[in-house]
Amino acid sequence: MSFSLPPEAVQWRDKARHFVDSELKPFELEAEMNEGRIPESARKAHEKACIAMGLTLMDVPKARGGLALPILTQVAIVEQFGRVTNALGWCYGEAQGWMFEAFDDDQIARIVMPVTRGEMHLCYAITEENAGSDPGAISTTARRQGDSYFISGEKWHVTSHNLASHMVVQAKLTDGAHVGEHCLFICPAGAPGVSIVRSPAYAHNYNHHHPILRFDKVEIPARDRIGAEGDGMGFTHSWFRRERLLIAARCCGAMARLIEDATEFAKARVVSGQPIADYQMIQAMLADSVLDLHAARLLTYEAAAAHDRGEDLKALHGRCSIAKLFASEAAFRVADRAVQIFGGRGYMRENVAERFLREVRVDRIWEGTSEIQRLIIARSLLKRGLEGTIGSN
Ligand SMILES: Cc1cc2nc3c(=O)[nH]c(=O)nc-3n(C[C@H](O)[C@H](O)[C@H](O)COP(=O)(O)OP(=O)(O)OC[C@H]3O[C@@H](n4cnc5c(N)ncnc54)[C@H](O)[C@@H]3O)c2cc1C
Repeated sequence: MSFSLPPEAVQWRDKARHFVDSELKPFELEAEMNEGRIPESARKAHEKACIAMGLTLMDVPKARGGLALPILTQVAIVEQFGRVTNALGWCYGEAQGWMFEAFDDDQIARIVMPVTRGEMHLCYAITEENAGSDPGAISTTARRQGDSYFISGEKWHVTSHNLASHMVVQAKLTDGAHVGEHCLFICPAGAPGVSIVRSPAYAHNYNHHHPILRFDKVEIPARDRIGAEGDGMGFTHSWFRRERLLIAARCCGAMARLIEDATEFAKARVVSGQPIADYQMIQAMLADSVLDLHAARLLTYEAAAAHDRGEDLKALHGRCSIAKLFASEAAFRVADRAVQIFGGRGYMRENVAERFLREVRVDRIWEGTSEIQRLIIARSLLKRGLEGTIGSN
């Protein structure tokens, strides 16, 4: 199966790539040596530039003033943001398509559209100490009292809480017709009753922290419930599909950067009188990396194009898992080979391969571990058959 991007997607891709390479890449070392931090003025300038480019509107419906770009184009754009380390590519807020189905008009006006203007920033609090791969096991509760809900519990790994104005929190209802079912709520990041238990250090150096948060009877007005009572799990499925596809795209960007940089180094580095690029064992590592990138990109683009063709949502769920699983595992292999090609330099934090080796590891864990993606793919095969899972050609 061959695949070429439509001209509009190529234009967006090239614009995004130019921005990433010229504006974000120069800050990588500074971020790595300063726990992910870069000057606030630069961070703001990056966000402003992305908003001006229209990136925050790429998944917003046209009826809401958005661009509603094809998913394939969005994937080609986001891939470019995967080319940089230290989460410098996370420089703009995303108003995602599913939000326009889940949020009501008032919430779209108060929360979602301000995200597109950089006035608000969201983070997501789903995982708990004893509920990660199985979100059904969450124990955070939402108790209804009059026109409010009171949220109690503890959430883990809440990415970007330190930079967020609001959180999307998942909780289980304690009473009413939907007792025991899940619900999503919008909650100010610093609402009374929200406290940081601790903010652990992780393998990467990101300015986006992942704290453990306690919710102690946090009052949420009923107008900040997303959708109807019990709708929670349905919405998380839509956003998992999108996030998994975008993780696959970012992994492709990381692989492209690693291959380019490792190839350039291999051509220049002379050992025993010859550039190491002339040695066949080095060539084999480069060739295997090209194979990994090419396969991952085809899977990712094809899953995106299947969205644009309007294929069955349940089948698309499996396709996003296939893309995420393959691309995240491939990216780790490519980063590992790149470290090897760079030799001792590849183990230095100032080297892109060392940073990516630590950073892409989590892509096999978050938004569903590799094991969970395999379960989703196997379930799709058993339910829909091979053609229903990957198509007929
Ligand atoms: C850096 C980082 C940022 C994160 N950001 C967020 C965030 O912003 N918001 C949020 O809500 N969550 C976030 N997460 C949480 C993340 O989504 C979970 O860590 C992930 O879903 C795995 O859950 P867990 O850590 O509890 O692992 P567990 O569910 O405890 O799994 C442990 C191991 O068991 C395996 N396993 C589990 N079930 C099965 C099974 N049925 N068959 C075979 N193997 C199985 C897993 O694959 C894994 O290898 C983040 C995590 C990290 C590391």
